[in-house]
Amino acid sequence: MSTTIKLSGTGQEMPLVGYGLWKVPKDVCKDMVVQAIKSGYRLLDGASDYGNELEVGHGIKEAISQGLVKREDLFVTGKLWCTHHRKEHVKLAINRSLADLGLEYLDLYLIHFPVSVKYVPIEERYPAAFFADPVAKTVVIDPVPYQETWQALEQLVDRGLVKNIGVSNIPAALLIDVLSYARIKPAVLQIEVHPYGNRAQLIQFAQTQGLAITGYSSFGDASYQSIGMVNQGADYIPLLEHPTVTSIASEHKVSPGQVLLRWAVQQNVAVVPKSLSNERISQNINIFHFVLSDDQMQSLNRLNINLKFNDPAKYLNYPIYAN
Ligand code: NAD
Repeated sequence: MSTTIKLSGTGQEMPLVGYGLWKVPKDVCKDMVVQAIKSGYRLLDGASDYGNELEVGHGIKEAISQGLVKREDLFVTGKLWCTHHRKEHVKLAINRSLADLGLEYLDLYLIHFPVSVKYVPIEERYPAAFFADPVAKTVVIDPVPYQETWQALEQLVDRGLVKNIGVSNIPAALLIDVLSYARIKPAVLQIEVHPYGNRAQLIQFAQTQGLAITGYSSFGDASYQSIGMVNQGADYIPLLEHPTVTSIASEHKVSPGQVLLRWAVQQNVAVVPKSLSNERISQNINIFHFVLSDDQMQSLNRLNINLKFNDPAKYLNYPIYAN
């Protein structure tokens, strides 16, 4: 199978496996980026909110100066944060991200969440998380039409600052709305995807509309245990330990993590696993030498319980997915 997805609009090839940068600590970030590139990763999935764009930029610079890669062979993704949804703030956000990364353009820029909160000037606090007041941890929603933000992203394409633009964490209804006015159609939809929350209907709809899908948090709860965001009760089985996943892994002589990544890419859903271990970094991109059977794909699909770990209803009391 191909290891890339062709994006609508530009026709650029987006790698099916990228390196996820959320919670990659600053002190190891440069080395991790170089390691990921050495292991064959060409897509780096970053965001201003991850607080490590400066260090990611140092890693990219180092990899280029070591002759490991050329800029044009990398696919660098950034994300517009929720404090910067107004059109006049979008420019400030991209300028800061590009300056920190040391790049002239991003390959992909996504609207991180369909949530707009009170503007916090970059000079005051950066990244600002969701909070208007970082001590009291108050969140002040500042409603901005999604269309205004989308059109500001289109202008970044016009100015050559980003090659492709896309959306993240939005439901089908909002995607349908964007498609109604987009002069430049969203090339990518990035959402949480794993067998406990397989998002089958949304993926199928978005793919038929010409979007490429990136699934994040492929290992389900693995990323959320350490930040206290898994409270599913006593009977809950961590996804990487589920017998369906581990038995398929044994059959193919691969790890449970590789099974979960393969399950996604076999649906043409790109993945961006995060790891700080050299062994797992190379294992996670090594998923093109085995094929899951239809039965195995279906048994993984049957694990779906519509679970989302990353739901703003839980940490912002803002239920963007409620219906
Ligand atoms: P992930 O599913 O990649 O899980 C990371 C965790 O799994 C880490 O604890 C790591 O130690 C462990 N792990 C890594 N490889 C493993 C393996 N082979 N076997 C077992 N355990 C393994 O989680 P994530 O970081 O939430 O998601 C990946 C990336 O997706 C992020 O880094 C970020 O780039 C992106 N993301 C985007 C959004 C968004 O809102 N758009 C939200 C969350 C994550």
